[in-house]
Amino acid sequence: MMNTATNIETTFKGILINKDEQGYRAELQDINENVLPEGDVTIKVLYSTLNYKDGLAITGKSPVVRHFPLVPGIDLVGVVEHSDSADFNVGDLVINNGFGVGEKHSGGLAQKARMKSEWLIPLPTAFTPKQAMIIGTAGYTAMLCVMALQKNGVTPNKGEILVTGANGGVGSFAITILSKLGYTVVASTGRLDESPYLKALGASEVIHRDTLSSPGKPLAKERWAGVIDSVGSHTLANACASTKYGGTVAACGLAQGMDFPASVAPFILRGITLAGIDSVMRPIEDRKEAWQRLSDILEPSVFDDIAQEINLEQVVEAATKLLDGEIRGRVVVNVQGE
Ligand code: NDP
Repeated sequence: MMNTATNIETTFKGILINKDEQGYRAELQDINENVLPEGDVTIKVLYSTLNYKDGLAITGKSPVVRHFPLVPGIDLVGVVEHSDSADFNVGDLVINNGFGVGEKHSGGLAQKARMKSEWLIPLPTAFTPKQAMIIGTAGYTAMLCVMALQKNGVTPNKGEILVTGANGGVGSFAITILSKLGYTVVASTGRLDESPYLKALGASEVIHRDTLSSPGKPLAKERWAGVIDSVGSHTLANACASTKYGGTVAACGLAQGMDFPASVAPFILRGITLAGIDSVMRPIEDRKEAWQRLSDILEPSVFDDIAQEINLEQVVEAATKLLDGEIRGRVVVNVQGE
């Protein structure tokens, strides 16, 4: 920290992504406050998380970051340190999920952040800051997927719900939420050795993802009343082909691929609905509803099983592991921790 009579420069620890003649790199650094973007609320970040998109941003495997230098981290929870907004006061605990944060506006993987007040929601009283980040965008997106199934009339008595990418953040929370609501959940995974974990979350059956990941027929035997898919590609196509008449498939991810090699048959012959789920630009009222629903459904014991905690020094290595499919559930980052 430099502190003179004429010039005060504050630094804080964080991951900074740069792209220049030395290449693309994400490193833990002492970051100068002038790197922070414009915004009316400055936040002392307590926890952030690692989502799939953060893994892509930190490793540079996909062009997620569109502005350099940039602090990654699409999620954060923290304490308001300074506010020019009438909606938030110093000392308030707030959450930010998405809105381009960690992509084009510096995000949560640093000890300080500056945000626009219209992106923030108060931390729900049901959750500690750490629990809110264990949920993060993954849990909030899983909730949006469940809400889409419910909106389309997929009730527990309609039959089995398929959850793909089961060991991931979205998948783990989708299983948890659905089972708490009384649905029968079938989890699809590449890691059958994690079946005890998936069953503990609430899956009644675990299937291998290879049964869904290769090119399939336009229509298959009807099995699913609903699907929550974070995988895309052939898996999404096969999930649609095996959804029962009138069922709904909520599609939110692309872990297998961005393509969608499907036919219109399930839509025009079985009347199924494909519900697209975007969490990033979701209107604030829907976010508040999703977080309220999460508060009502999730019990504190859920968080022990689903998450592992790391600090900022461990973030870059963990991002690679996440993309390599070596992480189960959620990674929560204690941003102030040693
Ligand atoms: P994670 O990395 O935590 O989980 C992804 C899971 O997908 C893995 O754990 C693995 O599960 C499965 N998987 C990985 N590679 C493959 C593959 N090649 N084929 C099939 N399955 C695979 O990511 P998140 O849960 O955070 O995100 C999941 C997806 O959802 C990502 O694509 C992400 O970008 C997207 N997403 C979209 C959002 C939106 O707003 N639409 C918001 C949040 C996430 P297993 O080992 O069990 O097979």
